[in-house]
Amino acid sequence: MTDAAGRRELPKTYDPQAVEGPTYQRWLEMGAFRADAASQRPHFSIALPPPNVTGSLHIGHALDHTFQDYLARMHRMRGHEVLWLPGMDHAGIATQNVVERELAKQGKTRFDLGREAFVERVWAWKAESGGRILGQMQRLGDSVDWSRERFTMDEGLSRAVREVFVSLYEQGLLYRGQRIINWCPRCLTALSDIEVEHEEVPGELAYLRYPLADGSGALVVATSRAETMLGDTGVAVHPDDPRYRDMIGRTVRLPLVDREIPVVADAAVDREFGTGAVKVTPAHDPNDYEIAQRHGLEAVNILTEEAVVNANGGRFEGLDRYAAREAVEQALAAEGLLEKVTEAPHAVGHCYRCKTEVEPRLSLQWFVATKPLAAEAMEAVRSGQTRFEPARYARTFFTWMEGIRDWCVSRQLWWGHRIPAWYCPNGHVTVARQDPSACAECGATELRQDDDVLDTWFSSGLWPFSTLGWPDDTEDLRAFYPTSVLKSFGNVIDPLELMDRYGTDALRFALIRGANPGSDVPLATEWVEGARNFANKLWNLGRFVLSSVPEGTKPEDLPAADQRSLSDRWLLSRLERTRAAVTAAYDAYDPAEAARLLHSFAWSELADWAVELAKPRLAAGGEDARRAGAVLAYALDVTMRLLHPVMPFVTEELGRVLRDVDTITLGPWPVERPEDLDEAAEADMADLQEVIAAVRRFRAEHGVPPSRHPRLTIVPVGDHQAELLRAEGDSVRRLARLETVAVGPPSLGGGPTAKVLAAGAELHLPLAGMIDLDEELARLEREREALDAEARRAEAKLANADFVAKAPAAVVDKTRARLAEVEAARTKVVQRIQEVTATAGG
Ligand SMILES: [Zn+2]
Ligand SMILES: [Zn+2]
Repeated sequence: MTDAAGRRELPKTYDPQAVEGPTYQRWLEMGAFRADAASQRPHFSIALPPPNVTGSLHIGHALDHTFQDYLARMHRMRGHEVLWLPGMDHAGIATQNVVERELAKQGKTRFDLGREAFVERVWAWKAESGGRILGQMQRLGDSVDWSRERFTMDEGLSRAVREVFVSLYEQGLLYRGQRIINWCPRCLTALSDIEVEHEEVPGELAYLRYPLADGSGALVVATSRAETMLGDTGVAVHPDDPRYRDMIGRTVRLPLVDREIPVVADAAVDREFGTGAVKVTPAHDPNDYEIAQRHGLEAVNILTEEAVVNANGGRFEGLDRYAAREAVEQALAAEGLLEKVTEAPHAVGHCYRCKTEVEPRLSLQWFVATKPLAAEAMEAVRSGQTRFEPARYARTFFTWMEGIRDWCVSRQLWWGHRIPAWYCPNGHVTVARQDPSACAECGATELRQDDDVLDTWFSSGLWPFSTLGWPDDTEDLRAFYPTSVLKSFGNVIDPLELMDRYGTDALRFALIRGANPGSDVPLATEWVEGARNFANKLWNLGRFVLSSVPEGTKPEDLPAADQRSLSDRWLLSRLERTRAAVTAAYDAYDPAEAARLLHSFAWSELADWAVELAKPRLAAGGEDARRAGAVLAYALDVTMRLLHPVMPFVTEELGRVLRDVDTITLGPWPVERPEDLDEAAEADMADLQEVIAAVRRFRAEHGVPPSRHPRLTIVPVGDHQAELLRAEGDSVRRLARLETVAVGPPSLGGGPTAKVLAAGAELHLPLAGMIDLDEELARLEREREALDAEARRAEAKLANADFVAKAPAAVVDKTRARLAEVEAARTKVVQRIQEVTATAGG
């Protein structure tokens, strides 16, 4: 929009919805976010872990993305060649679940379709419904290079996954073995430790009596899962436990199953747990499995993949694990072998996708040996090569790394990267980069590929370099790897709703302000509302500057140093300090501090002070108006550019109009102007601000109505201040709503005055005429009466012996304290009444 003079005019209010969509579209059209690998500029690249194809933007993403985007935009404005590559993760288990649920509606399972048809079906789902999150990234303003969009199941990325798998296998860091893994009986797949969520649930501890085989007595074991006794193959006690010393080496008769099993001694047994004797169920507990390995005990699997008792469970076959628990306890009780059952809540693992209770299951899976990798990572931290921010996270890291178990990477799913391992009829395994035609060991040609796919993390972890073409040596890879940042956060409010209500800039600003490195991010709706108000304030500031500066004023036409007013010098000096501090904060990955500095500068110094000081100069017109206008426009332009990485939309809209350019998103970043630093101007302005603030405070405290304009006399400290106050007296008069400002000794005999100290000077304000004394007196009398009444109520309470004796001590103390407060306030009011009466009399 343009006005009659041909100037672009801004709508009255900032409407985020009207600005954001078209602005993003313009950026795409001008190719603002496209990276050029051949560019000679310094390179900056970001590899954010790709969001799930099934995903929708949550507040954790919103923060991650805002943080990455500030970095991308800041570096772009500062002349870097920036690459932020977008894309999605195929999210094996999540996506498969979505498509399986659709099939279930038609009464089908994936097995009805078969592997190939099912995988085709998932691709079709992806084309139709996947990737909602990419549109949401655009809403958030992510400055990503859409021309390079990738997907973890793309051919190139799949090749990278296979390369890593094969080379880890060749280095002995990846192996296939029988292990106890976390198993989801609903998803029918193995899960890694981080895919299991632990939650405290109500539970029990059942004490089971196992008779000794020779009939000479019995042992009692405690368990939270009585049904697993069907798979027991031993009982373990601590070797130093005197209670069981003579039991070691003997055998017990396992009830219900009627199997003879040995009592073994193992130092891993916790003597404090239950009775100190524990049942050993190698197929259903990782610790028991280890004990069994040490003592050569057999593993008996009693559950199907769906966690239903199988044929090994004898007469309990067909019961699910919970029904079996009850049935086993009843059967034991009937034989007099259930000693007791006590309540015992305990932490149980749940599948992160479907929340089903996870079942530890002994099975043949592929594992990455994490110990050597963990050792390397720990060494990097110890040597200081990797640093934690804050440092206390290092301890958490070490605890985690030391306890780390080998990572189970095979998943019994169909959607994902199929494991590149082939089996021949002679039991050999061939792991290969290219699909083999014969067994590597015996040459057999009947090969069967492993049915399982790889954990999704296996491919998303490779994202930073697989997307750039690795394992090929590509131009992108050389230009943009290693990527410059990788960070992560988590949380719960719906960011889309907040963007609808308050605008994207408001959400981004609130997220950035609240962000502390290394902590979870709490986000309150009020912060977003406050940030929306800030966007509106900027908009109004922009509208004022554009409509009030003389036509043709350009931000680059700054007046020469000797042509600047005190407020011009002060504003440019503060601006230069802000520019330096904001740039340093961005560089230190502390955008929260940058946002805080810019909020304070734009709101308080620029809008509240500089604009107010410039108003009469702008209204007067002429050359000085042009100078004042250029300084304001320049300060606003720099502020918009500094703020652009955090609030890209409103700053782009204002920044474009201010300089009449197409975009500010490609820079330039505001230049350094040390010559603008002016300590003298800042000190003088500080004095003026202090004087004005003191008068304003006095007015507020004494209820002086805005319509009253008292006369102020200032007794300055020193010649310099006297000169300053004479020169800038008119600004003081206007901003403090005074009739006149005189500098010099106070006139005598002018009636009673109030004396206030500010900036070392004495401010004398006449009381008469400033406030309506009768009204003030009436107000004070009402206040005194209210305080009297409250004091009487408190005194009556404290005089009541019943109250003092029976009320809680804290309540009595509180009443006493309140009475003291009321009495103090009353004394002040009475004093004030005396002052006002004296003034009225004089
Ligand atoms: Zn599950
Ligand atoms: Zn073979």
